[in-house]
Amino acid sequence: MSRSVFITGGNRGIGLAIAKVMARDGDRVAVTYRSGEPPAGLLGVRCDVTDSAQVDAAFKKVEAEHGPVEVLVANAGITRDSLLMRMVEEDFTSVIDTNLTSAYRVAKRASRGMLRARHGRMIFISSAVALRGDKGQANYAAAKAGLIGFTRSLAREFGSRGVTFNVVAPGLTATDMTAALPEARIAELCEEVPLGRVAQPEEIAAAVRFLASREASYITGAVLPVDGGAGMGH
Ligand code: NDP
Repeated sequence: MSRSVFITGGNRGIGLAIAKVMARDGDRVAVTYRSGEPPAGLLGVRCDVTDSAQVDAAFKKVEAEHGPVEVLVANAGITRDSLLMRMVEEDFTSVIDTNLTSAYRVAKRASRGMLRARHGRMIFISSAVALRGDKGQANYAAAKAGLIGFTRSLAREFGSRGVTFNVVAPGLTATDMTAALPEARIAELCEEVPLGRVAQPEEIAAAVRFLASREASYITGAVLPVDGGAGMGH
């Protein structure tokens, strides 16, 4: 069954891995990209998720080409790490806007068609850091933890309408976002991971694919950690 899938930040990293696996399954996949070029073979729509008008325009384009969005993956995100004493307000607000307020923008826009269809899947990419916090990431952890309360509220609001809402919480994953970390820091972080290594983007994509699937029909409001066991107990 081919579904209309909309993935934010799908031009690289985890978003691109999700797009590839779902396209391989036969879905009609659209990805948003903010800069650079859209990935080959997928419908690319330029969109900055911090701008509601751009979000609306992106949905209109995808709806025209692929039909109403049936699966939404809110994946776009940024980090602006620093210790609180050095964190300027813009580092805080831009991370909240890009990681959390953007989820409100895309979920609200996607919900129209899903309510009409009485069917849909929304998946939000949070982080293992949402649950445990981390030094230098107060802004990011707040945004990613906020996504959990947001998702669970929507799961309750829309439960009777056939739309499910779930969170995937990845641990450290090999993408551009983590490429800048010194090797020593990665080794240190891996010591806290029972599986002893970072994730590959395809391993996060596999969890998203499952939550978007028919098999996940009775799962809503869940937080699925894909973190090599780092956050056990949450
Ligand atoms: P990357 O930095 O590789 O990619 C981030 C993506 O988000 C890019 O496509 C980027 O677009 C897009 N993006 C950022 N800001 C905006 C914006 N304002 N509007 C539209 N698109 C935007 O990150 P990852 O693939 O690693 O991360 C994907 C998600 O997974 C993020 O939400 C991240 O927080 C989360 N995550 C990542 C982990 C990791 O270890 N890598 C661990 C846990 C969670 P552009 O190319 O234009 O910049």
